[in-house]
Amino acid sequence: MILASEPEELRNLLDEARRRGDTVGLHPTMGALHGGHEANIAKMAAECDTAAVTIFVNPLQFGPGEDFSSYPRDLEADLSRAERAGAGIVFAPSREAMYPEEPLVSVAVRKLADGLEGRRRPGHFDGVATVVTKLLALAGPCYAYFGEKDYQQLVIVRRLVKDLSLPAVVVACPTVRETDGLALSSRNAYLSPELRRAAPALYCALLAGKRAIDERAEREADPVREEMRAVLLREELVEPDYAEVTDPCTLEPLGKISGEVRLLVAARLGRARLIDNLSAGAGEG
Ligand code: AMP
Repeated sequence: MILASEPEELRNLLDEARRRGDTVGLHPTMGALHGGHEANIAKMAAECDTAAVTIFVNPLQFGPGEDFSSYPRDLEADLSRAERAGAGIVFAPSREAMYPEEPLVSVAVRKLADGLEGRRRPGHFDGVATVVTKLLALAGPCYAYFGEKDYQQLVIVRRLVKDLSLPAVVVACPTVRETDGLALSSRNAYLSPELRRAAPALYCALLAGKRAIDERAEREADPVREEMRAVLLREELVEPDYAEVTDPCTLEPLGKISGEVRLLVAARLGRARLIDNLSAGAGEG
């Protein structure tokens, strides 16, 4: 496995790979790699000839008072996980290598960033869109792997690639969960044992919402929102933020349910802010 730390190195390595006739996969991450990242890397390595992972805690996507400085960082552990999962290249630049000067140009996300995470984290998706644009510009034509775990991010990246004609094909990766349903996340490291026991409430809420739609044929969104919120509130240590029922493509909150919808929840558990989501209503055609 090759470790690159300069942007030009990544560009040259992937240019060379394409000249050899390789298909190129790219999986952008912020490091603190876990089983979710590993599954995504393994999928990418199975589907692409050259599999590159990027590790960069992007300051542009953290707001004041968020966890940029305390975000878990462990490059050595990340390198062995990435290699074990099948990565051929890891690009782990310093902040200075990515942003040698204060950036004066950035990507602005409209509408898709107005609700959900975007509303709670102003500027977050502009920061994500800017760094993803930079990474895709360095990588060149590739398959870009993004997790469904960060569903709003996935929708925004798809639209970013389309609207800016970036030479990438976005590949969605299913969410990897612990056996009790908790979605794997680098931020789960912030959970005390007590909070960890309460954390599957997010997935339970999503399952309750999905059951209401798929099994009880609920066609009003508000009772589904209320039901998901009630499940979150059953756990004393969980402070619910939102429990939403949205259109899966536009992320607009829905009134009526017909066809596939996306259920999304967010909650604070101590200092951790966790998010999760699930599809529902897909079966009815
Ligand atoms: P992060 O390092 O948290 O920025 O995540 C990097 C990529 O991994 C993003 O595309 C995430 O959506 C994806 N990811 C995060 N958690 C999971 C998970 N539990 N299962 C699958 N993919 C994930």
